[in-house]
Amino acid sequence: MTPPDFDTIAVRGGTARSQFNEHSEALFLTSSFVFDSAAQAAARFSGEEVGNVYARFSNPTVSMMQDRLAALEGGEACIATSSGMSAILSLVMALLRSGDHIVASMGVFGASQQLLGGVLPRFGIETTFVPATDLAAYRAALRPETRLVFVETPSNPLTEIVDISAVAALAHEAGALLAVDNCFCTPALQRPLELGADVVVHSATKYLDGQGRVLGGAVVGNKTVTEEVFKFLRTAGPCISPFNAWVILKGLETLRIRMEAQSARALQLARWLEAHPGVARVHYPGLASHPQHALAMRQQASGGAIVSFEVEGGRERAWRIVDATRMISITANLGDTRSTITHPATTTHGRLTPEARAAAGIGEGLLRIAVGLEAIEDIQADLAAGLSA
Ligand SMILES: *Cc1c(COP(=O)(O)O)cnc(C)c1O
Repeated sequence: MTPPDFDTIAVRGGTARSQFNEHSEALFLTSSFVFDSAAQAAARFSGEEVGNVYARFSNPTVSMMQDRLAALEGGEACIATSSGMSAILSLVMALLRSGDHIVASMGVFGASQQLLGGVLPRFGIETTFVPATDLAAYRAALRPETRLVFVETPSNPLTEIVDISAVAALAHEAGALLAVDNCFCTPALQRPLELGADVVVHSATKYLDGQGRVLGGAVVGNKTVTEEVFKFLRTAGPCISPFNAWVILKGLETLRIRMEAQSARALQLARWLEAHPGVARVHYPGLASHPQHALAMRQQASGGAIVSFEVEGGRERAWRIVDATRMISITANLGDTRSTITHPATTTHGRLTPEARAAAGIGEGLLRIAVGLEAIEDIQADLAAGLSA
């Protein structure tokens, strides 16, 4: 699934040396670029000559990150943005207009849900949310004015798996594009464009950086899509900082070995939790007990690094497990080398109504772990304290 040259692309793809022949990619901190002549300035502005003009449009460090990520996803081109949310916003603003319709899977990231369901309707763009795994629901929700199907897989926090090929076929039949938020798996574990998706969006803040340092986002796809996104970005300005792009560019070099190591720990943790008498249910695509285990193993190289589990005793018991940890970080962020734990019902999904939370399957006894790179024995010991109490 991961092509054999993935590792080589990860460390060498997109690299462009300056006149100084530096080995590590340079960080170009400059807001603008100078021209040799008035004629060259005019040619650059008109687009007749390819080259840098102003850092809201492009920057050599940003270009290196974009080229490397595009190659890792198997896409023609990539546009980097200031955050994952600005990547999703830019995609929508670039491709849709008032009157258009979106079909989105339930269980997308909270802010994505707010953007699609709360903000876009004010601009005449309506979204229908459908259960992530229900193909008939996608089919029923598609309309002549549907321009985009937007999914996230595995979903957060229940790790439901969207069948990318099947949803792509439905979207295409209806004349819509399929965009996949590939944040949880990254191209190291899942390559949606090869499965039929048209666009991949990323919160590079998570695993692409991988060490919890910077915000960033990206849209990857064919040039028809990325050129529209670029036109919006250069006008509206949600561009990435060159420093953040540089951090992410270097983070990509270790992406596959991090994802494999974190994923391997997640599987060990999921198996351990499943066997623990204090745990009622475990959600992890790598477990044979996951309802879509077979599909997950077809479209992902492994189960990923996010594990959710449920305990009896509701919020009180769940919070006690969180509070008993001494090492695992209590934070809603994920994609770090450090393991994190969160109680979705009172954090990431706290703004949903109790009814909406129940419909989404997010109970008071649910906890989500984003497994990092610490020794699995230490992660387990940290959870064992609260689980056995
Ligand atoms: C964090 C996240 C986002 C938003 O990314 P930001 O970089 O925080 O703007 C979008 N999708 C998913 C799946 C995420 O986890």
